[in-house]
Amino acid sequence: MSDNIFDIEVQPLSAWSPSGDKPLIIAGPCSAETESQTLTTAKSLCGHVNIFRAGIWKPRTDPDSFKGVGEEALKWLQRVKNDYSLPCATEVLSPAQVELALKYQVDYLWLGARTTINPFVVEEIAAALKGVDIPVFVKNPLSPDLSVWVGAIRRLNKNGIKKIAAVHRGFNSLYAAPLRNDPIWNIPIKLKCMYPSLPLLCDPSHIAGDVKFVDAIIRKAISLDMTGLMVEVHANPETALSDSRQQLTPDRFLTILSHISDYITKPLYKNEVAEDTPEIKQLEYLRSLISTFDENLLNTVSQRLHTVEEIGTIKEKLNMPALNVSRWNQVMESCLARGKELGLSEQFITDLMELIHRESLELQNKSN
Ligand code: PEP
Ligand code: MN
Repeated sequence: MSDNIFDIEVQPLSAWSPSGDKPLIIAGPCSAETESQTLTTAKSLCGHVNIFRAGIWKPRTDPDSFKGVGEEALKWLQRVKNDYSLPCATEVLSPAQVELALKYQVDYLWLGARTTINPFVVEEIAAALKGVDIPVFVKNPLSPDLSVWVGAIRRLNKNGIKKIAAVHRGFNSLYAAPLRNDPIWNIPIKLKCMYPSLPLLCDPSHIAGDVKFVDAIIRKAISLDMTGLMVEVHANPETALSDSRQQLTPDRFLTILSHISDYITKPLYKNEVAEDTPEIKQLEYLRSLISTFDENLLNTVSQRLHTVEEIGTIKEKLNMPALNVSRWNQVMESCLARGKELGLSEQFITDLMELIHRESLELQNKSN
């Protein structure tokens, strides 16, 4: 692991989550719009999810669009708690909003992507939460910068908040893509490797941007062993005042939940069974093969790069540049052809060879 890992001290999810040692399922509308929309949505979710979410203050891109109802909607969340026994979560963007949310006994807070990205605002919110025992969900920042995400978590932690979960909601992307936000899965995976005890949830709705992708994103999150989900669900998505396309109807959401019942009901952090079953033996054997392949792979890469350095010395003598486009095109072409024969994806071969080529150029540049 890299050497700039800072300590964080968080409580395990089971110590504070209404889901106990099971994945935490949070759902509800993007925004609380009216009392009846809030209560109808909560009614359809009660008994199926652990926490009800609804935005009260909405950070919108367009200044003329719906900005959330504000304080009035906090009373609706209180009704959700009382009428449906569902704990509630909302987004806070300032110390004043923290104060109001606490006044109305909101159970969980979250920092949105537009807040996490701003260390100054995070610091103010963290200071407002000093001495308050409330769990906080921290969405990733808009930009794909893991250190900013970690920074926000640390700021809360330094102010005594120990009930923290990170929420992966994808990153702004320059490229037109079917998804609204680029998941860049590598970033949450890195966060998980750095802080295995930090609960990590996935918000498939903001990654997807459209209901038709939500199911696939949830499956991907489950395959990465994420600790829970925060999903946007609206009683009547077509009429929603924000994020209309990505909000599921309660029916569609409950169908998804029924398909992932194995995930929802299985305890988290269960160590792999130490039993001597044939499957476990086979798993161990296959893992030993993987270790051998990795060893061979690294040896081969090392030999390749040493050869590249030798070539670099000759190029230097002949006064040739490190980059030779026609040779590189040939290499890539033959690797792609071989990769195809071996059933490897074109994208994978391209990424792999570009990475090796980048290092090769770097080495020849050094020897020059
Ligand atoms: C939201 O959850 O409705 C929201 C605004 O999320 P994000 O901060 O991830 O955009
Ligand atoms: Mn939203």
